[in-house]
Amino acid sequence: MAEAKQELDHFMQGLAKRNPGEPEFQQAVQEVVETLIPYVLDHRKYHDAHILERMTEPDRIVIFRVCWEDNEGNIRTNRAWRVQFNNSIGPYKGGMRFHPNVTLSVLKFLGFEQVLKNSLTGLPMGGGKGGANFNPKGKSDNEVMRFCHSLMIELYRHIGEDTDVPAGDIGVGAREVSYLFGQYKRLANRFVGTLTGKGLAFGGSLVRMEATGYGCVYFAQNMLHHRGDSLQGKTCVVSGSGNVAIYTVEKATELGGKVVTLSDSQGSIYDPKGIDPDKLAWVKELKEVRRGRIKEYAEQFGCEYQEGKRPWSVPCDIAFPCATQNEIEASDAAELLKNGVQVVCEGANMPTHIDGVHQFLDKKILYGPAKAANAGGVGVSGLEQSQNALRLSWSRQEVDQRLQGIMRDIHEKCVSYSPESKDGWVNYVDGANISGFVKVADAMLAYGVV
Ligand code: NDP
Repeated sequence: MAEAKQELDHFMQGLAKRNPGEPEFQQAVQEVVETLIPYVLDHRKYHDAHILERMTEPDRIVIFRVCWEDNEGNIRTNRAWRVQFNNSIGPYKGGMRFHPNVTLSVLKFLGFEQVLKNSLTGLPMGGGKGGANFNPKGKSDNEVMRFCHSLMIELYRHIGEDTDVPAGDIGVGAREVSYLFGQYKRLANRFVGTLTGKGLAFGGSLVRMEATGYGCVYFAQNMLHHRGDSLQGKTCVVSGSGNVAIYTVEKATELGGKVVTLSDSQGSIYDPKGIDPDKLAWVKELKEVRRGRIKEYAEQFGCEYQEGKRPWSVPCDIAFPCATQNEIEASDAAELLKNGVQVVCEGANMPTHIDGVHQFLDKKILYGPAKAANAGGVGVSGLEQSQNALRLSWSRQEVDQRLQGIMRDIHEKCVSYSPESKDGWVNYVDGANISGFVKVADAMLAYGVV
């Protein structure tokens, strides 16, 4: 125990020194190595080969300028990145994020998490992530198109179906992926599955759009079943109102839960009657077509709207954070626990601050960390790659069944790698980190010093 603490402190000091000014990346690594250092000390082959030091250093990072012209004829300049983190078990795979807060630190945290997450899916995918400090909000379709096309003029030389396969993330949905893929196809003069999340008419997979949200709910269902419980009748709180949030609400409702909140970066709504399928159809139109604010939901359906507030003070059985990183701070975690939350299942990446994670683990609630709970998105992206390679399209039912299988397998892996607990409680953080790590680490060991 003392050896592990000393080793952890030493490791994190080194990491902070090598990656100054990167708080998100340091946080993501800390959360993982808190679990892995004791494991690595017990499994000396990883320790002696310095696998953790090697795994926390990206294979490479491409940083480039993206110039584009806005509707007024002004020349605008943004910065874009592609972090190719680790391709030990397959081509780099991970989304692109367009948001003004995107930094190298954020993309390194996301890329690092992606390595372990992709390993957990059981599919042959390495980990990467990319994005730009570009804000699609308030831009016209033509401006977004010009930005995407300009970005791809540089990115296309670094990606490929067997090299690196980007997809969507915050600010990058169906519209952006289409512009990116259209330009890629033109520059490369090849029609191959180099991006996922594509439209159904040009190589996309059924259920990809729904996959992260559906998968997150399937993971919660697996955790509950393992304890002899179900989603039936559970009150659920969801944050965000983008892709992941919308399909989390859809599946949670279908499986008998009652979802009472949604949010965006400006505030949250609380609808105690529940967000039923008709109301959700209205939200989809609001967010996917009109690109409006969640505040309008409160006006439309006559419920409460809290400006600038997240939904964590609403009493619930299950919380699904589906917006962004660090949206559950220590005080939010304490409030959720005080109000009796039984399950926290993460649709977003690293939505819970490390102090909140410790609180959930101390109280032994069912806590599904992002890299396990939201792996359904990249899982179905992997299935999209398979369909593209086969030049086939699987039915909705087939993809959904495979998604359910992927989430069930991830759950089983977490249970089998979680240290034994006398009362049967599963530490999904340990389970996900160790299980994701072992596959990548074994590949790195097999390759020798690379
Ligand atoms: P979207 O862009 O579709 O939606 C993001 C939602 O989160 C919006 O409601 C947005 O509000 C809100 N949000 C974004 N940033 C902030 C912020 N700083 N504070 C408060 N709210 C914020 O993104 P996705 O739904 O695709 O992604 C959501 C999360 O899920 C991210 O963490 C992403 O990494 C993760 N994820 C996504 C996957 C996918 O397949 N799309 C796969 C796995 C993980 P607003 O509109 O006001 O900005």
